[in-house]
Amino acid sequence: MKHISTDLKALSPTGLEEWVLELGEPKWRARQILRWMYAKNAVDSFESMLNLPVSLRNGLAKSARMERLKVQALFTARDQTVKALMQLPSGRNVESVLIPHFDDHGNPARLTVCVSSQVGCAMGCTFCATGKMGFHENLTCGQIVDQITYMRKIAYERFDRDISNVVYMGMGEPLLNYKALLASLAILTHPEACGLSPRRITVSTVGLARRIRDLANDAPSVNLAVSLHAPTESKRASIMPVSRNALTGLKALKPAMRYHTDTTGRPITFEYCLFRGFNDSLEDAGTLAQICHSVRAKVNLIMYNNVPGTEFERTSEEQLDEFMAHLSKRGVTVTVRRSRGADIAAACGQLANQSQT
Ligand code: SF4
Repeated sequence: MKHISTDLKALSPTGLEEWVLELGEPKWRARQILRWMYAKNAVDSFESMLNLPVSLRNGLAKSARMERLKVQALFTARDQTVKALMQLPSGRNVESVLIPHFDDHGNPARLTVCVSSQVGCAMGCTFCATGKMGFHENLTCGQIVDQITYMRKIAYERFDRDISNVVYMGMGEPLLNYKALLASLAILTHPEACGLSPRRITVSTVGLARRIRDLANDAPSVNLAVSLHAPTESKRASIMPVSRNALTGLKALKPAMRYHTDTTGRPITFEYCLFRGFNDSLEDAGTLAQICHSVRAKVNLIMYNNVPGTEFERTSEEQLDEFMAHLSKRGVTVTVRRSRGADIAAACGQLANQSQT
């Protein structure tokens, strides 16, 4: 039996199998443990893993642990968006959001969970509340998945149905926590764990070229969204430091995105936050359309949630309509994401930023 306590929530499904084999147990025990940790009715003690022999349960209690996120607070917006503030063992907080999309009859047609992958973020985008915190800590795969497990419970309680989509668009840059990202995707899509379809999962990145290629090879069934937010290198560089580096700027990003669409056979989504007077002109829309065609991308326009302390303001509804029409006329598929949960500080990082001491 091992002497150093291993956090089983930090292991991928394959890592858990290896760990179980090292214990001298058959590989299939890992599947049983995985189910207890992440499937519906997940438990938080080895004692409760009832189909494991008592001797193994006792052994696990001595040699392993399961680090959990503690829910600190839950906020519900007027539009029924739910935001959870969760505490890591380090005492730092991350946030997750459950966003309901209602059909014309008021039924929740889609329930999207937005998860965090890091505490804070090193990328420093100037319009982002999380970027203002700087980077503090990577989450383990289990801490990423626990946000979804928790929101699943809330989804059943509030809306009487399961979540439908997961987006990695909360705090942090998921491709900078790559190993935990891949392990969390493996848990989310594992039939014995969360059993979600990879097609319903979207990883959103600021656009790290090398990792986008890796992701195309390592997780080709998962959707990719790239935060573009400006159609030219100079404009982008002025709000996103990632674009100031030759290895991660637009010039490197475009071929990496083409590699992704060629390898996976699926389009990328550009996240494009409209800032009044900065990136919302028709000229911007024209340049954006050209990039879309060159990499096979569609566009998700975002109405900005104003973040205190930044110079940016959301664009007007009229400008949004014109921008959208301009893209559509050029054959680009466009959707609009309106701000949700504005009354509960739902812009990524706002809440955790307020709560960090
Ligand atoms: S927008 Fe995303 S990548 Fe940029 S600072 Fe915020 S969390 Fe980091």
